[in-house]
Amino acid sequence: MAIHLHEGDLPDGLDFGASVAVDSETMGLNPHRDRLCVVQLSAGDGNAHLVRFGKGEYNAPNLKALMANPDVTKIFHYARFDVAVIKKYLGVDTTPIYCTKIASKLVRTYTDRHGLKDLVRELAGVDLNKQQQSSDWGADVISDAQRDYAASDVLYLHAAKEKLDMMLAREGRTELAEAAFRFLPVRAELDLAGFEPMDIFAHS
Ligand code: MN
Repeated sequence: MAIHLHEGDLPDGLDFGASVAVDSETMGLNPHRDRLCVVQLSAGDGNAHLVRFGKGEYNAPNLKALMANPDVTKIFHYARFDVAVIKKYLGVDTTPIYCTKIASKLVRTYTDRHGLKDLVRELAGVDLNKQQQSSDWGADVISDAQRDYAASDVLYLHAAKEKLDMMLAREGRTELAEAAFRFLPVRAELDLAGFEPMDIFAHS
């Protein structure tokens, strides 16, 4: 397993194949206030690539092209947030999208534990260490602990997706999941437009 750290963009010529796991680290949970600091990527091969952004340095043509590439599925856990942050800071619409949290909610109806830690423990047999979740991702130098944590958030999403896809097929919910994934860019747009606390489908 190797973790590669890049400044400001992915290097030229990196090939992630048909699907890439993606996560982001920010200064906080409000995309309008809290800037994007790191984007993590993995082809599901045990290796991770971390792209670190300095404040205001979001000219990342290779990463933007990957996010927009219609032939590469971007696998997230809670895509709603990452897609909004990527749109806000990189100015790109991520497509196509797979979200392991939505897939989990559609098939793991026997539990209400849909966090990444619980999902990866059950579906990949890996116990994630979330200690660095709340840390200063805007620092000029990413610590080894931060680096390992950031990588672990993308290393097991392919394995989780594989299990979730089998469960979705078994329960007849594959098409429903795909339709929900297609709606994610709209949900992210609503969040950025100020409708984040609101369920626009709710009666009241
Ligand atoms: Mn993360």
